[in-house]
Amino acid sequence: MGKLLLALVLWGMLAAAWAAAGLSPVAMRTLSVSDPHGLIAKVRAALDSGAYLNDPGGEREALWWMGHAGVNVSDDAAVTEAVARLKSLGSVGHDKLAQSYAGFLTADLRIARGDGGGVSDALQAAALQLDSPDPAHRALAKFQLCDAYSMAGQYHHSQPLCQQAEAAFVALHDDWNQAQALNDEGNNAYGLGDYAKAGTFYQQARALYDKVGDHSQMLMVGDNLAQVYLKQGKPSQAIVLSRASLADERAAGREFDALNSQYDIARALDAMGRHKGAMDLIASTVDEARKAHLDTELPDLLQEQSRMAERDGNLKLALASSREAFAVMHKHWSDSLNSQQAELAARYAAREKEIRIRELERNNQIKNLKLQAAQADVERNAMQLRRQRTTLVAVLVATTGLVVGLVSLLLLLRSQWRHARELRRQALEDPLTGVDNRRGFFKRAQALLDTRDSDRSRLHALLLFDFDYFKRVNDRYGHPFGDIVLNVSLQCLRDVVGGHGRLARLGGEEFVVLCPHLGGTAALQLAEDMRAAICALVFPNAPEELCVTISIGMALFDGTRCHDVGSWLRAADDAMYAAKARGRDQVVVAHRVNQLLNQAGATAQPGG
Ligand code: GH3
Ligand code: MG
Ligand code: MG
Repeated sequence: MGKLLLALVLWGMLAAAWAAAGLSPVAMRTLSVSDPHGLIAKVRAALDSGAYLNDPGGEREALWWMGHAGVNVSDDAAVTEAVARLKSLGSVGHDKLAQSYAGFLTADLRIARGDGGGVSDALQAAALQLDSPDPAHRALAKFQLCDAYSMAGQYHHSQPLCQQAEAAFVALHDDWNQAQALNDEGNNAYGLGDYAKAGTFYQQARALYDKVGDHSQMLMVGDNLAQVYLKQGKPSQAIVLSRASLADERAAGREFDALNSQYDIARALDAMGRHKGAMDLIASTVDEARKAHLDTELPDLLQEQSRMAERDGNLKLALASSREAFAVMHKHWSDSLNSQQAELAARYAAREKEIRIRELERNNQIKNLKLQAAQADVERNAMQLRRQRTTLVAVLVATTGLVVGLVSLLLLLRSQWRHARELRRQALEDPLTGVDNRRGFFKRAQALLDTRDSDRSRLHALLLFDFDYFKRVNDRYGHPFGDIVLNVSLQCLRDVVGGHGRLARLGGEEFVVLCPHLGGTAALQLAEDMRAAICALVFPNAPEELCVTISIGMALFDGTRCHDVGSWLRAADDAMYAAKARGRDQVVVAHRVNQLLNQAGATAQPGG
């Protein structure tokens, strides 16, 4: 039994899914008015069973009419679900029509709640379709705008749009939608107080709904026409239409519409003089509206009740109804205000948050930039430091190199200078005795004679001497000892000569003393001192007593007999040989000098 029940339930669900999936858009649009709850259930079942998985177009149309059904029975959950699903379809499949359907339904829901902001939703949704290549979509967008403005009470804005939509539907041979547009044109005319025109539009719309067989819509427009009749003082005609409409609304579960129809019936009864019936009906309508929390409708109903009660003399009820009407109105408006304020506050908070986030982001960017700049500075400084260090090292290396080079150069120069000096010394000095050599003597003597031009009166003396029988010394004591004898003798003569002259070795054991600016007497005396000093020399290291003597030839330079170093030296040499010839160990003065010496009464022997 239980299994059978489960199977039946499952079969029922499947059947509902197939039913919705198999419904045509026209059937769904009829059901959205004639059986809104049923349509919502069918579409939900079809969606749950995945009937539209491969049919996004079918799903879009089903959701569209499910949304309408939701609006018609004030099922906000159904409308919200349809809107969410349409938005998802729109974004996933890039389906602009689904997106605009979502926008139109949102607009309907907001406007039905008394939120004028719904018009902007309709405008945005319409913007997606106004340039559509499909004329049916363009016409629909126009109509939805006309409908939104009309529902929001902006009849002047609505009317031209409704006319354009109607013309578009005529061109498309779309009677049902043309009837929709005509109904809205009727609403606009009614809202603007042109009841005759409104009546005409409603009648045209009714005729078209009748033509396409949409009974529910025809009855709904009849209800609108009933209000026109009421305004025109035709309550008996009005009551027929409203009752027919009420029956359909009750059957379809459109309680809100049903209350409005009851309200119209009550007013018609009142207008027909059936006050009791009117009062009862308005009282029960007020009760229903209270229970259904229809705050937007309740004040009108209460005020109507108050008006009727006042007219009947029931002032207590009149006052109570009137008070309640104001209280509901006040509550509704303050709720609405509160929600608007809350929305504003939320929007403001979000905006403030956004600004704060941007500010933080900007601050972060500034901080990052500062950090980057600081890093760049540090890197630049480090690089500068590295460069400076490198330069310093290079300068140090270069300076060190330069100093080392300079020092090496100086050392080299000094050694070269020393070497040159040594060479010079070696070139001009006798290595054995340390006196000038022959070249040194000639250089010095020539220099002396070169300066003589400045003072021709001054005399210079040359004392040339040769060791006597020196061969014998060598032979007897050996050559090395002969060297010692020469050295010791020369050292002794250096002391004797002192500053009067300069010793030089001419070769072998033959020497000369160059005496600048030394007159004949002084020179002769010096020569004699030299001879005597050598003669008196004692050589303690000699194996036996040794007596060394020298023979000296003296020549004065006066620029007459001798005119250069060569002739001067020859004169001295001659005088020295004369001394040898005369027996050695004596001084002989060259002939001119000899004469001078004779005149001066000197005792020296004349030379050859
Ligand atoms: P005279 O009195 O005629 O000059 O006799 P002498 O033996 O000195 O003869 P002469 O001047 O012709 O000979 C020089 C000798 O002196 C020859 C040589 O052996 C020696 N002599 C020359 N130079 C040196 C020297 O540097 N050292 C030594 N030990 N002997 C030298
Ligand atoms: Mg000799
Ligand atoms: Mg000699």
